[in-house]
Amino acid sequence: MGDLLKGISSFRGAVFPDHSALYRRLAHEGQSPQALMISCADSRVMPETITQSGPGELFVCRNAGNIVPPFQTMNGGVSSAIEYAVVALGVRDIIICGHSDCGAMKGLCHPDLLGKMPNVAAWLKHSHAAHSIVCEAYPPNMNEKEKIRAVAMENVVVQLDHLRTHPSVAAKLAKSEVTLHGWFFDIETGDVLVYDGAAARFTEIGDHQNLPVAVKGRGVPHVIPATAQIAAE
Ligand SMILES: [Zn+2]
Repeated sequence: MGDLLKGISSFRGAVFPDHSALYRRLAHEGQSPQALMISCADSRVMPETITQSGPGELFVCRNAGNIVPPFQTMNGGVSSAIEYAVVALGVRDIIICGHSDCGAMKGLCHPDLLGKMPNVAAWLKHSHAAHSIVCEAYPPNMNEKEKIRAVAMENVVVQLDHLRTHPSVAAKLAKSEVTLHGWFFDIETGDVLVYDGAAARFTEIGDHQNLPVAVKGRGVPHVIPATAQIAAE
């Protein structure tokens, strides 16, 4: 704890004074973050550092495996954070960020490691689909590191699917008021890959003007058949 206490002292003495006006404004006006980021709790994955975000810019929800339980399977912190970010704060972008060397993904691939962690084992059921995809659809000769990496990437896609089951997100997507992003952070290189939903693959961030996205809003829905519309009138 000594290092943490030194950090607080340093923050109060050397950092906060330079940003006191910003903190004061945020305290008075409230927060208006531009995005919700759901990332792993891994200490090496720091959303604010990766995106170079300051106070008030990023609404963050972290848990083991950057998991989003499907709507109604669990009334918990992740669902509440999503709802609050979307409905109360009106964030326009939601990012699910997985990463390399993820301990949760290792546990998913080796459930024998989870014998003394029943809560983690139960939590990781929300990622079983990612494991199944890699086991059945990927080349069988991948080494351990490649497999963990593939599961972590597929897990991002699975959690994006879960995200869409949340009514608050589904409604905003229908109105094109939110965009979903899937990212993958490589701890060793610092690279951030982004999921291109149209191409169904992760790609490097290139020109910021053409950043691939996972799921775009679909605009005003036109799913009611014309006959039904006439009948309704
Ligand atoms: Zn992780």
